[in-house]
Order: sequence, then C-alpha cells, then structure tokens
Amino acid sequence: MNAPIALKAPAGRDCAPVLKERGQREVFCGLTGIIWLHRKMQDAFFLVVGSRTCAHLIQSAAGVMIFAEPRFATAIMEERDLAGLADANEELDRIVDQLLERRPEIKSLFLVGSCPSEVIKLDLSKAAQRLGAKHAPQVRVLNYSGSGIETTFTEGEDACLESLVPEMPVLADDAPANLIVVGSLPDIVEDQFKRLFAKIGIGNVASLPERAVADLPGIGPNTRFLLAQPFLNDTANLLTKFGAKRIDALFPFGVEGTSNWLHAAAAEFGIAAAHVDEVIAPYQERAGIALAHQRERLAGKTIFFMPDSQLEVPLARFLANELGMIPTEVGTPYLHRGNLAQELAALPEGVQLSEGQDVDKQLDRVREIKPDLTVCGLGLANPLEAEGLSTKWAIELVFSPIHGFDQAGDLAELFARPLRRRDVLEV
Ligand code: SF4
Repeated sequence: MNAPIALKAPAGRDCAPVLKERGQREVFCGLTGIIWLHRKMQDAFFLVVGSRTCAHLIQSAAGVMIFAEPRFATAIMEERDLAGLADANEELDRIVDQLLERRPEIKSLFLVGSCPSEVIKLDLSKAAQRLGAKHAPQVRVLNYSGSGIETTFTEGEDACLESLVPEMPVLADDAPANLIVVGSLPDIVEDQFKRLFAKIGIGNVASLPERAVADLPGIGPNTRFLLAQPFLNDTANLLTKFGAKRIDALFPFGVEGTSNWLHAAAAEFGIAAAHVDEVIAPYQERAGIALAHQRERLAGKTIFFMPDSQLEVPLARFLANELGMIPTEVGTPYLHRGNLAQELAALPEGVQLSEGQDVDKQLDRVREIKPDLTVCGLGLANPLEAEGLSTKWAIELVFSPIHGFDQAGDLAELFARPLRRRDVLEV
C-alpha cells in the first residue's frame, strides 16, 4: 500500500492566482445532461423545445437506435415558429397532449429550453404551469434551460435538479435529521454509498434525484446535504434557501476524497471518527491496492485540464495527491469557491488555475507545455492527438462511474489508458 493519505485537507490555504479568460469556448451545451439524467430518473421524460441541431446533438450523444423508445425527444421548432408565424405555445400544448396520451407511464415531464426557444423568448415556465395544471395530478410538468447561451454541459444537470427543489415535500421543524446526496450517480454507486452510510450509522439517506422523480426526498431545517458533484452550485444555493445545510467536504473521488466526504457527514450526525475509520478501512485498503498499480504508470506525468465538466479541480486533486501526477493547468468553466474551498486547499502549491476559456490562447499554452495528457472536449481531442499529444475526453468522466472507493481504480485507469495507448503506438 502507499503511504496513508491525509483525510483532512488543510483549511484556509488558497491556490495560486486564477487566470480568468473570456473568449471563444469549446464546451457542449446543457442539453447533454439529458443523456445521463433520463437514464437515472426512470419515470421522467425530457422534451427539448429546440431545433434540428438540438435533436441531432442529443440523438448522437445518446447513440439512440431508431427502434428504441427513449425518454427524451425534441419538439422541433420550424422556421415559421421562429419567425413568429405560428403560435409556439399552441404547438407545444398539442405535442405535449399527444405525448402524454401515447406514453401514460410518464409521471414527470421536463420542458427543456434551448437556444432557439430563448431567442424567440418562449416562456417555458409559464408553459410548464399551464400544462402542469392541465395534466395534474397524473403528471408533474417542470422546466429548465439547457441552452448553450446559458449553460455548459454539466450545468444542465444543475438546472434540472434546481427545478426539482421547490417540489420537495417540506418536513416539520421536529422531523428527524435526514441526509440527501445531491447529484445524479449511477445506481450501483448510489447503492454502495447507501450501504456505507448505513454501516456508519446514518440511516435516513436519500438522493436528489431518486430513481423515480415521484420519490423526491423531504426538506426541512434538519436536512443536511452532501454534494456528489462539484457543478451543482445553483441547486446547492436553492436547497440552502429552503432550509437545508450543506456539509462541506472534499468530493468523493479517490480514497482521500471519499474518506473525507464520509467523515464530514458522520461528524455532522455526531458519529465518532474512530467508528468511521473502522468501517471504511477495508474499502480504503482495497482502493489503495487498485491505485498502486496505476500509480506506477501515472506518477510524475504532467496533466493539463481544459475547462469542460467542472470536475477538473477535484480530479486534479485526486491525480496529484493519490497518483503523483503533476497538474500544469487546471481550467474550469466556473470556479465556485464556496463548494470547492477544501478542494482548492488540498491542491498542490503553485498549480495554475484558470476560469472560463479563450480557446486559442489556451491551446497555445498546451502546445508550449506539451503535457503528457490533456483532458478536453471531443472537438479539441483529435487535433491535439494529430499533433502528437495524448488526450482524454472530458465527457467520458461524466458518463463513467467514478465516485467512491470501489471506483477509484477505474477512475485512475481512465487516465492511464491514453498513456498506455501512446506507448503501444510508439513501440
Ligand atoms: Fe446547439 Fe443551442 Fe441546441 Fe445546444 S441548445 S444544441 S448549443 S442550438
């Protein structure tokens, strides 16, 4: 096993100055989140109100086969809608009526805004109210924006979960304390965490979102929540407004992050740290063995994060502290310091952070540094590979199960694989 990892990040230390950039950016829009959200919420349907481009984006990102009956679709706005020649609200009502008649299993319908619906100022919150009143109580109709004007791709999940918060049942002031894990996790990971919380002694645990939107957890002054994803800033703010308290912790990536995350929850529920250590020791050991294999390959390698998923800061911390990688630049679309305070403090000294993007300038820096690995969007990966640089697609990190002890080795493997491929090609 490697040397033990400090479970508590040093508090209060900040990182090197942040390079703020505004310019052309290369990031998917928030519609992309529908791909993992529709798999998670099995009684929900996502209706994008958008153009053929939007339809192509989610169809190709999801790799949907033509005979599948997916739980998302696009209400395509034609030119006459965009030109204001048709009443877009009437059209939308007609499509929703048809959809709900044909798919009676839908219990929650999300109307998802896009660039075109924003451009013609189609008010989807009013549409959701109108359609919600018409189809209640069988169907709950909600709305959020996934438009590329407003959102980068993981912000789609943030906007979606934020729209669920006002729907959560309100708990009484004297209700027993409950814990909500916020962020869409693969079912297998969610189950692992619930088993761990139960062993630690926290039994009243729910997720936002649950597998059925109908099972929304309750919220009240005794509600505590842990973010599972760093890109849920608006959802966290709204949960706080509704009386819940965020538990500050590292994010559950790797042994260090997962241990810290569980310890923080246990401390909030008055459970002794020694008991948590006892419960998690076998998991830590297993994960440590899995990481040791990958450390041999990754230690000393440089890594450059282009701003993409907002997972960049916690992943850079994991790769540096547990695998010995050297982050040269850690770019993120937005740096939410409140949620990332512990993560920033746990990064190695002197890491260059950047927020926002001016893609050409950033590519110049990549070419100058020539990192061993660059984490970036799909559109940038091929050109960089052609220049001889190894890349990792950021989107793969969002689609793959990477949280928790049991996934720590797989997470490291995602970064080791492109380097191994490069070695093979060079041989
Ligand atoms: Fe493109 Fe905007 Fe549609 Fe996203 S929402 S696919 S950025 S048109």
